[in-house]
Amino acid sequence: MLNKYLSRLDFSSYEDFYENFEIKVPENFNFAYDVVDEYAKTDPNKIALVWCDESGAEATFTFAQLKEYSDKTANFFKAVGIKRGDPVMLILKRRYEFWFCILALHKLGAVTIPATHLLTSKDIVYRANAADIKMIVSVSEPEVIMHIEDSLSKSPSLKYKALVGDSKDGWLDFTSEVDKSSNVFENPTGDQASQNSDISLLYFTSGTTGMPKMVQHDFLYPLGHILTAKYWQNVSDGGLHLTVADTGWAKAVWGKIYGQWLAGSAVFVYDYNKFVPKELLQIICKHKVTTFCAPPTMYRFFIKEDLTKFDLSNLKYCAVAGEPLNPEVYNQFYKATGIKLMEGFGQTELTVTLATYPWMEPKPGSMGKPSPGYDIDLLDDEGNSVQDGEEGQIVVRTSKRKPAGMFGGYYRDTALTNKVWHDDIYYTGDVAWRDEDGYYWFVGRSDDVIKSSGYRIGPFEVESALIEHPAVMECAITAVPDEIRGQIVKATVVLTRNYSPGEELVKELQDHVKRVTAPYKYPRIIEFVEELPKTISGKIRRVEIRETDSDKK
Ligand code: ATP
Ligand code: MG
Repeated sequence: MLNKYLSRLDFSSYEDFYENFEIKVPENFNFAYDVVDEYAKTDPNKIALVWCDESGAEATFTFAQLKEYSDKTANFFKAVGIKRGDPVMLILKRRYEFWFCILALHKLGAVTIPATHLLTSKDIVYRANAADIKMIVSVSEPEVIMHIEDSLSKSPSLKYKALVGDSKDGWLDFTSEVDKSSNVFENPTGDQASQNSDISLLYFTSGTTGMPKMVQHDFLYPLGHILTAKYWQNVSDGGLHLTVADTGWAKAVWGKIYGQWLAGSAVFVYDYNKFVPKELLQIICKHKVTTFCAPPTMYRFFIKEDLTKFDLSNLKYCAVAGEPLNPEVYNQFYKATGIKLMEGFGQTELTVTLATYPWMEPKPGSMGKPSPGYDIDLLDDEGNSVQDGEEGQIVVRTSKRKPAGMFGGYYRDTALTNKVWHDDIYYTGDVAWRDEDGYYWFVGRSDDVIKSSGYRIGPFEVESALIEHPAVMECAITAVPDEIRGQIVKATVVLTRNYSPGEELVKELQDHVKRVTAPYKYPRIIEFVEELPKTISGKIRRVEIRETDSDKK
């Protein structure tokens, strides 16, 4: 399959890859027809999706089955009145029906808006109006239903709604509707056929720093994820890949559909509600997952388990992204499993942008090097390129070309788009530095970088120092305003099982940080908490800690 889209597949080194990797852009590319239906024709029994949930239910789908179900689902949407360009929101958690829907909507040239089940009615009203959402397909869970129903009177565009699971009055019953729909679907032609530049997906950013932004991607976006799956996650043809992500987070399309299927790997989905490290590890063993990708927070919990108890012999390759990975976590995971965590950096707005690619030796704590197609630079506050060793904001230069898979802008928000992307430079909002070998090291989001007594302090480095201490399970470093120093460093800490809060421990942790990093970075304030505020995707919301602190004053 990949031969069609790449001018070359195999590379001898990172440099060879960076110079020569190239995507051949086809005309009118539609992932559902050109990849899924194509497999259904050439290799119908190839496994596409292996699914299971907490209760032990399991299901496996071949490409032939996915073609059939997506055709039936497309006929259902079509009968409802959904056509090219119509926005449809999917609140489907990790139900396998998500895959039927997204493929069906691609086939129709409609706009898919995946969203989390945690939206309140206010959030739904905002989104429904911002995007003129025409239909919602949702899981049948009382709270989600309640929020959607409460939003209806203020969401005039929202005309149709369907439930996956138990049916309810006033809702279409997804399963029975799809069942009775024909499995013969006529691909739209003429002005109903999707074009490469049409919007196919609107994804909300994680909302780590503020209100989530609505990111728009076109029909070529799936091809951008060849990099993500084939070269960073290193999925293999015939393998089984698990990326842990709710479908309401862009990481789901990074790891659970496009690039993996283009590269021939089956996708594994574990539909769970609560993350229990031991259970997830058991599932990985039982289903013989071969490649795995998760945010750092999961690995932080994994290393606290006795990993020798799990037979991870089928697991060949592990990737990590979404937040910075503390070197301590890398080292402990490597010690326990022999697997080197391969870090990647990217955003909802981009595909994998910097990564530790297979030809590279990972440097624990570093994200890796630029992806081919991405013209990366680090700029200081005046917009000048910085030297190796100096900190700067990560930017993508787009004067020569826009990388495959890069977003088209924030939906219906030109002002915000122009703010982050102007003069052919896209500003990521993340600060990093580059070493003499060309590896990039994350410092922090620009908003999170602390300025104290004239020093700039990146939260990540202090967090990484703290987490080396056995008492620290997780922590977040934030700034607290201070009259004399401008800002001072505060640590919010979750303790591991055998430790309890106290003055002595505060002193010990402070001394520990002074010992392992430059002493001026040590946290003058330490607060112990049960849990850190996080996004649904597991990212620490430092902004929330700062807000709570200022409310306390
Ligand atoms: P919002 O934009 O709504 O505040 P968000 O930026 O967290 O949320 P995403 O697009 O899901 O939304 O995440 C992208 C961000 O995640 C990056 O800008 C970066 O801050 C962080 N990130 C991703 N990978 C890494 C990594 N390897 N190391 C450090 N940070 C990372
Ligand atoms: Mg962001």
